[in-house]
Amino acid sequence: MLCYHRIEEPPTHASGDTNFVRPAHFAAHLAALARLGFHGVTVHDVLSWKAGRSTLPPRPIAITFDDAYESVVTTALPLMSVYRWPATVYAISGYLGEHNTWDPGAPPARQLDAAALRTILADGHDVGSHTRHHQRVRGLNGAQLQEELASSKDDLEQQLGAACTSVAFPFGTHDRTVLDATQDAGYLGACTLKRWANGRRTNAFRLGRMSVGGPLPPWLLLAKLGKLMLTPSANQSSSVNTR
Ligand SMILES: [Zn+2]
Repeated sequence: MLCYHRIEEPPTHASGDTNFVRPAHFAAHLAALARLGFHGVTVHDVLSWKAGRSTLPPRPIAITFDDAYESVVTTALPLMSVYRWPATVYAISGYLGEHNTWDPGAPPARQLDAAALRTILADGHDVGSHTRHHQRVRGLNGAQLQEELASSKDDLEQQLGAACTSVAFPFGTHDRTVLDATQDAGYLGACTLKRWANGRRTNAFRLGRMSVGGPLPPWLLLAKLGKLMLTPSANQSSSVNTR
């Protein structure tokens, strides 16, 4: 799985910002992956496959977008549609349609609103939760975890009229308490930023993703991906292993 944020030309002062990937680079990433025989799937597809309910195409790869910026719709999805690949978009339920004030140092951008997310879902993409306020969930108390995980799921299901089956932890941080609360909230799985390939036995609540950002040419992406695919997850059992 890959984790992207903004598919945009970075402002000059933010040229090294790893939240940005230039559209030309993103198009080159997709072309390189397709040339190597990868097929785009959603996180929901991966979770269904792990549960034995469906199959996956050869060389499946889930392309995810954290923070649900508008450039997902304006730029990323049109590029992915060339290959008919679906995306998984992680939205912050307390900021739908609002600017990224959760990240005061970042160049301003708007998050997609509920109507745009409903359109994405109708087009076959997957929308998950990125919590309600983009907080680091590790270390939160029970009530706070309830709000960031369970309430965010409820928010999205009400606004989008569809099941919200997975969450991406902001900054990837989590611990045993977070994983238990995620499961209790009714999610079927969760994405971290652990760099490992996901197999049938990977803990569904600790799915690995490789963060992709900055000026990353396709050859370097493929090199990193090759290394990742040789890295089994550290938690290939049903027990939760916190690190
Ligand atoms: Zn985020």
